[in-house]
Amino acid sequence: MKIPFNKPYLTGNEKARLDEVLVSGKFSGNGDFTKKCQALLESKYQFRKTLLTTSCTDALEIAALLVKVQPGDEVILPSYTFVSTANAFALRGAKLVFADSQPDHPNLDVAALEALITPRTRVIVPVHYGGQACDMQALMQLAQKHSLWVVEDAAQAVDSKLGEKNLGGIGHVGALSFHDTKNIIAGEGGALVINHEEFVNKAEIHWEKGTNRSAFFRGEVDKYGWVDIGSSFLPSELTAAFLLAQLEGIDQIQQLRMQAWNTYYQMLSPLNGKGLQVMPNVPHNAHMFYLVCRSLEERTELIDYLKQQGIASVFHYLSLHKSQYFADKHDGRDLPNADRFTDCLVRLPMFAELGATGAERVAGSVLDFYRTR
Ligand SMILES: *Cc1c(COP(=O)(O)O)cnc(C)c1O
Repeated sequence: MKIPFNKPYLTGNEKARLDEVLVSGKFSGNGDFTKKCQALLESKYQFRKTLLTTSCTDALEIAALLVKVQPGDEVILPSYTFVSTANAFALRGAKLVFADSQPDHPNLDVAALEALITPRTRVIVPVHYGGQACDMQALMQLAQKHSLWVVEDAAQAVDSKLGEKNLGGIGHVGALSFHDTKNIIAGEGGALVINHEEFVNKAEIHWEKGTNRSAFFRGEVDKYGWVDIGSSFLPSELTAAFLLAQLEGIDQIQQLRMQAWNTYYQMLSPLNGKGLQVMPNVPHNAHMFYLVCRSLEERTELIDYLKQQGIASVFHYLSLHKSQYFADKHDGRDLPNADRFTDCLVRLPMFAELGATGAERVAGSVLDFYRTR
């Protein structure tokens, strides 16, 4: 039997929740289901305020509006990330300053960040790769020292922690994703997490197309109108109802994913030290399991070998500083760690239904591949 790279998981309650929306007759956004999802995220993860969005991409765009990035302002972000991390700020005319990854992890190398800060720097955007936390303590200290905003791209980090804090809840704002490829899904969906008190009301305005409609419905103002720029960032109640079923099943989903992750780690961590690197066993949310091969050739051969065994494994980002869109805008600094992950990182199948049995088969094939190398 073939093992796909990802398989969206259903808890079984999605249909019943969708039926409730159909019966309610209210399909547009910011209704009961949206409010229930937001309340659940806020109480489970101690987030000050959460707003559902149609994607993490949208949540990042609201974040860029909140921090009021102006054309020419500089934003520091990792090169080894998804385009959405960059687009949100590029759309506002910001100058993107790409930072390198750590030598041993795709996350931002916080120790090397201070050298990138100039008088025009306004924002740092850490991305928690694979749901594993960036060094947020050092990063928040650095941000405070230079009066910078911190926007956490926690797209992959739902249900992941750093100490007592949930990821997405540490920076001034955070962004979560509920895309089909993430742990908790809504087809397309996301959430903005607002931790900085002054951003709570402003976020609601950007979210509601630049109007104070939310305040109007709470009876705080007697008319509603256009008070700032914004866009259509709210998901419909159909999306929210589906998401609610997923959020209510989160512990079960996470338990299943953890079983697969732990099996991978147990079987594959002995490969560490032969020049190969297995995803570290530091706190994570079983969002992914990756290996870093010794070369691009070796990675290509491994992916081909697994494909012959009916197993889909995939590489990940292409460094954004070398992308077709950005290469001629980049300032020329080498980012060797990001390049190494671009060439050598491979992700193994990871989804709730994989289970220990599926992970055992995949890991067994990886070990077979390396037996002769
Ligand atoms: C998935 C992902 C996104 C985008 O999420 P969407 O919900 O699809 O918009 C952004 N950043 C990172 C790091 C991601 O992994």
